[in-house]
Amino acid sequence: MSNAATKVGPNLLEPARTYQSSVVAPAKDFIFGNVVEVNPLGTNGRVCSFNCPYCDLSQSFLTMNEIRKKLEFPKVQDIGTELRHVLTHWKSTWPTPTAIIVSGNGEPTLHPQIDHLMEEIRTLRDELRPSLPINLYTNAAQLATNKVARATQIADEKLIKIDAGNDTTLKIINAPLVRMGLNKTINAIRKIKDVSIQSIFISGTLSNLEDKQIDDWIEVLGMIGPKKIYLQTTRFQPQDNRVVPATEDQLHLVAQKVERRTGLRPLVFTR
Ligand code: SF4
Repeated sequence: MSNAATKVGPNLLEPARTYQSSVVAPAKDFIFGNVVEVNPLGTNGRVCSFNCPYCDLSQSFLTMNEIRKKLEFPKVQDIGTELRHVLTHWKSTWPTPTAIIVSGNGEPTLHPQIDHLMEEIRTLRDELRPSLPINLYTNAAQLATNKVARATQIADEKLIKIDAGNDTTLKIINAPLVRMGLNKTINAIRKIKDVSIQSIFISGTLSNLEDKQIDDWIEVLGMIGPKKIYLQTTRFQPQDNRVVPATEDQLHLVAQKVERRTGLRPLVFTR
């Protein structure tokens, strides 16, 4: 669920990104600025239950079966040791972080001990940087399981990816590798208190910006009642050339529609 930042805007797209460690610092996040990023998913390419055509991570082509049965994830204890080191030895030349982001090389809740990992991050945060919020990015595909729901509740801000308002658009824009339906996901999200919604919009052959798509997506927002809504587009060079980033104007038009229909004012991030 990577949301790492870059210095360029949608007209200057960057190539796919990779990770070299379980903790990245100092890191940049498009929404939160200077952060410490926890990557629970290792360094061998993307580990995700979605296959979004706009994804900015290098593809791994792992099936869900391989992720569940064969993949070796970094140990909670080792990630904790890395995080402790970074938080203890924060360099004076590094910018002050605004948050600990749990995101990384795909969908963080696929880590088999994500609940224990979130507890470990909270323990370290409380001990070493009590003022830092812990913010989790998730695609919510695993949210119906108790373990992932527990882990999500630990986060101070739960940023849930909703790019689609119906199952047809979900298949186009997120291409899930798991059997899932939006209704079940919405029900799971509604059990979590105070969620934020993070949505990526793209145009081109694979678009989620058609009027009907936006209407259905706003209806979903109404069912969830998020405390914040973040609107973004891709800033990296998608591996799929059918993807075209949304323009700033398109994102603001979506934001205006949301505000008119729900009273909620989305935050638009264009760079
Ligand atoms: S949810 Fe989509 S954008 Fe995020 S890591 Fe998975 S495939 Fe990439």
